[in-house]
Amino acid sequence: MRDGEPQDLDAGAAADGRAEAFEAVIGLEIHVQLATATKMFCGCELSFGEPPNTRTCAVCLGLPGSLPVANARAIHFGLMIGLALGSELAPRSIFHRKNYFYPDQAKNYQISQYDEPLCRGGSLEEIRIHRVHLEEDAAKLIHVGSSGRIHGSDASIVDFNRGGTPLAEIVTEPDIRTPEQAGEWLKLLRSTLRRLGVSDVNMEEGSLRCDANISLRRAGTEELGVKTELKNMNSFRFIERGIRAEVERQRKILSEGGEVTQETLHFDPASGALTSLRSKEEAHDYRYFPDPDLLPVAIDREMIDLAREAMPELPAERAARLQRELELSPESAQRLAFASELGDYFEAALDAAVDPPPPAQMLANWLTGDLVARLGDGEDPQASRVRPAALAELVGLVAARRVSVGAGRQVLDSLVAEGGEPQAIVDAEGLAAMDGAEELAVIVADAVRANADAAERVREGNSKAIGPIVGHVMRETKGRADGTEVSRLIHEQLGV
Ligand code: ADP
Ligand code: MG
Ligand code: ZN
Repeated sequence: MRDGEPQDLDAGAAADGRAEAFEAVIGLEIHVQLATATKMFCGCELSFGEPPNTRTCAVCLGLPGSLPVANARAIHFGLMIGLALGSELAPRSIFHRKNYFYPDQAKNYQISQYDEPLCRGGSLEEIRIHRVHLEEDAAKLIHVGSSGRIHGSDASIVDFNRGGTPLAEIVTEPDIRTPEQAGEWLKLLRSTLRRLGVSDVNMEEGSLRCDANISLRRAGTEELGVKTELKNMNSFRFIERGIRAEVERQRKILSEGGEVTQETLHFDPASGALTSLRSKEEAHDYRYFPDPDLLPVAIDREMIDLAREAMPELPAERAARLQRELELSPESAQRLAFASELGDYFEAALDAAVDPPPPAQMLANWLTGDLVARLGDGEDPQASRVRPAALAELVGLVAARRVSVGAGRQVLDSLVAEGGEPQAIVDAEGLAAMDGAEELAVIVADAVRANADAAERVREGNSKAIGPIVGHVMRETKGRADGTEVSRLIHEQLGV
């Protein structure tokens, strides 16, 4: 066990007497299981929880004499990823054998790419990409403990269903500077991959896995420090916490004059502890050599054209378009574009021909704020009872002040619970905004009289004291009054 988890990097630095400014340098290696029908080098179907060792063949079990053949669809997906990241697509790339002895790899080597990967370079927003290559996943080891009753002692058993699943490994340049930036960027990468349709990108199920390489250097210097590698973190929250803990650990070592040792670490989210898996001395020598059983991958015009044709609009492009064409705030545009189910819902609502039409930014706010908050955790609004056209109609009514914000929220409650049409709900529940300004003025006057103390304090300049008066009006009008108008009338009547 190494270190507890710091809550706050800056606080840690400030608590240290000789606080020195360090900058974190972070590079990510991301493994993505590709959503092909079959495995990387054989015809076995990909497995989704079938009984162990039922999706195997001579090739993915590594039996002697079997011959691998590269999956064309996996190469197609690899090219799509390369195009999305603006990488250079290698006209010719090579599969290598990466040799190691471990029970998750029956052949005692993994087929991967080494010095001639499928894609090189590129970037996603501010982070440069080093390379993207294809490889096969290892089998799954299940540690059964003594209940496994293999010679009465602890044991591990192997499920080869996962062995040979196609993986794309995406390696960034060390351009990331903070744990939060790592998390945010990874979310953008995930939504990009999801939009491409090349992977399920489910971290909990392991179809998206991330290793983080971390070093520190003195602020203002260029040279990279000694790095450590945090292995296989399987949620965004753990990635940010793991990186934060490791940055803090290194900062402590360096500010005490020590040296960081190059090693591979595991972060335990439960305890916040970092444990060493292996040091540089134990690093593998994989003895890479070209796999003599596989042809080089030679990309031709047609394959690149096919990959290009398959490219959808990507989240970063979509965010830019929403911002440019609809003048959405950058935050809203990103929220909608990076969660494509929200973006699709938003655009469907905007396309619905409702009268009066909802302003785009207001519609975005109602969708990402009010509606999302009313749905269950992570529930897709498309699957809810609220049709995009119904939300558009409701927001249009609120924007035109035919329904107050408060009453609009009541209508939304009803839509979420039972579906239906906003105007019909407004009519049935008597939620239409009060159009008689005089009627409202009378109710405000009553409310001011009934809350004399509050009124006095508002007169004296305490604007927060307005609360009880507004509350009174809203009760009387059952929330149909427009909040801004009520506040204006109160101030007018109090002469402030
Ligand atoms: P290795 O040979 O240990 O796998 P690589 O040079 O292939 O290292 O880089 C692996 C990942 O580590 C990349 O994402 C890269 O950006 C990142 N990286 C390399 N050097 C550093 C460093 N000094 N600090 C932080 N990240 C680094
Ligand atoms: Mg590496
Ligand atoms: Zn197989």
